[in-house]
Amino acid sequence: MSLKSLSNLSDSFSSSERFPLLFLGHGSPMNAIEDNEFVQGWKRAGEKLEKPNAILCISAHWETKGTQVTAMPHPPTIHDFYGFPKALYEVDYPAPGSPELAEETKQTIKSTQVELDHSWGLDHGAWSVVKHLFPSADVPIVQMSLDSSQPPSYHYALAKELNSLRRKGVLIVGSGNMVHNLRILDWGKPNEGYDWAQEANEKMKKHIQDGDHLSLVNYNSGGKAMQLSVPTPEHYLPLLYILALKENDENVQVFNDKTIMGSISMTSISINSNA
Ligand code: ZN
Repeated sequence: MSLKSLSNLSDSFSSSERFPLLFLGHGSPMNAIEDNEFVQGWKRAGEKLEKPNAILCISAHWETKGTQVTAMPHPPTIHDFYGFPKALYEVDYPAPGSPELAEETKQTIKSTQVELDHSWGLDHGAWSVVKHLFPSADVPIVQMSLDSSQPPSYHYALAKELNSLRRKGVLIVGSGNMVHNLRILDWGKPNEGYDWAQEANEKMKKHIQDGDHLSLVNYNSGGKAMQLSVPTPEHYLPLLYILALKENDENVQVFNDKTIMGSISMTSISINSNA
């Protein structure tokens, strides 16, 4: 797909037509090869979508200094985890990259110099969920990194600059987890969250439904449950990218709404104008 075809294809969408937005709570890398309620939720979300021209994925698992986008034509599948079964290391998600979308993203973002990356690929934050949305691996995909030197308000503002891509048939996916505290996982609670995890999950959903993005950006001032849920920002920030792109007339749908293993929430959201 050339840049020309990106803009040509965008002609088939009216200028007011915006591609939906997804935030997916990815949880364990094992979800890539298991079939469970969360995988079913992602598959249903995928079935509701028109086929996009390309995907731009913001994954919790790619943090850099500055913002980068993958620009290679064939991004490798990165197995960025340890101690999992062999079958998981054998997963290959051979979706093509899109140097054209990488370049377009770089041009679209004016507030910072976005770098074109040729060494990353698709980490499991991206492929473990996108493979369930598009099992045929036939939609070109680009990852955009999280600048780890910047505060949440920076990410929220940066995300807004991606708005025009939605009108070019690009599906923007944030992949992380709203509640994510690996240090205090409880393996004895596979289907349940701690009280504070449930409290934070409810609070975040309420802010999302109310459009109170400021409280979500300032999560660190939101009390103990929020702080315990976001001990480090990388799994939470992809949510802010998706919310920042929501326009006033659009609807939010929540799915996979569940806290598990004490300190993880799988809660996912889709935003679109036709719901
Ligand atoms: Zn993760």
